[in-house]
Amino acid sequence: MKLILNTKKKILTGIMALAVATTTYSSALAYVPIGENYHIPAAKMEVDNFFSKELSANNLQRSDFLERNIQAPLIKYNPQKIWKAKSKYADGLKFVYIRPIGTSTDSDVGGSNPGGGYISLTRGSILVNSAPFFGSADTTLTPKDYNIYALSAIASDYAHECGHWYYDDPLVSSKLGQSDQTVARDLVSQEARADAFGIRLLENVPQFSVGGDLNSIRRGAKQSGWYGNPKEHPTFDSRWKNTYNYIKQMSNNRVRFENENSHDNGVFYIKDKQGKDWKIVVPKQYDVYGFVDANNKKELYNSYERANYVMGQVAWAIKNNCWDANHVSIEDGTKYFKDIPQGDVTIKVIVARKNNKEYKIIDWGGTSKVENKNFYSAEQKEAFDNYLSNLLYSTGMR
Ligand SMILES: [Zn+2]
Repeated sequence: MKLILNTKKKILTGIMALAVATTTYSSALAYVPIGENYHIPAAKMEVDNFFSKELSANNLQRSDFLERNIQAPLIKYNPQKIWKAKSKYADGLKFVYIRPIGTSTDSDVGGSNPGGGYISLTRGSILVNSAPFFGSADTTLTPKDYNIYALSAIASDYAHECGHWYYDDPLVSSKLGQSDQTVARDLVSQEARADAFGIRLLENVPQFSVGGDLNSIRRGAKQSGWYGNPKEHPTFDSRWKNTYNYIKQMSNNRVRFENENSHDNGVFYIKDKQGKDWKIVVPKQYDVYGFVDANNKKELYNSYERANYVMGQVAWAIKNNCWDANHVSIEDGTKYFKDIPQGDVTIKVIVARKNNKEYKIIDWGGTSKVENKNFYSAEQKEAFDNYLSNLLYSTGMR
């Protein structure tokens, strides 16, 4: 049977096709047949191995923050695909850990799933994804809940590991004492499968965007390069293209970057129902925390990666038939975020709502409560107003 691993789009659009291709060289014990909704529960030995070896060898530190802000929403909105285990040996996801390696410019090791439902993210990967832009030392292990861009990137890394859990990929690892019959292409196909699984988890969570995966990939590539020769993973460039193509497909080709050959797009287009293209020029996002006035506030996230987030969310709304004036509204931020500081700024959230349960946070903007103290400078205000207008015009709103 012909392998289709190099046909990148197929990996994302045709999981079943990949399943057929991959099982032709599966090993006897280890390699799990690939197929959607084909979950393989972890073996008891994986749990034992985690506690006897992995936990102390990697100095893993349990993170309540990641369990509450990343794992819990992914589970809540994907109950058919992932769930929390009720006990140590029960099937399901378990504690989430931080592995204390890496820095704000080093996420070379990202997440890992050593087996048994236990997943860790490295300190470096969280710091890198939380920063306003790659290389900034102004970052944190606990981004605020309104930093939907950072949280989506972190969630993308965790969701990818959930894919390894779902198919029980760690069992093929020789670390667990199994005969390791996998070859490089098995590992690459496992990684592509985990990517595909992960972005589909992001798709269902209101505050996480499939575009968060583009952010995580972009920052990884900032350190390691787009076209490196990774041992196991597809290149960052091919992962980027897979996720970007998935976003376009969600939108039925109604969203696209201005420059599809670039990874640095702060500009994208949305086609409205009449087929007219609206140019969305996304400004950088500012933090409401620490805000003093228009000239004294911190950058929260850069325009390129804010654009990735927004485009992924708009694509969901188009896919779910709610990118229109009847389903898109601007609402008070306190309804969605708990971390907004008491002070002079409020947050207004753009929401696309399909029904009572399913919705997406498209983006948000800050507004000052005080008459002569603006959140945006005149120039920033103009950029934001243009951005918001075109975004809303593309829904058909007038
Ligand atoms: Zn992986």
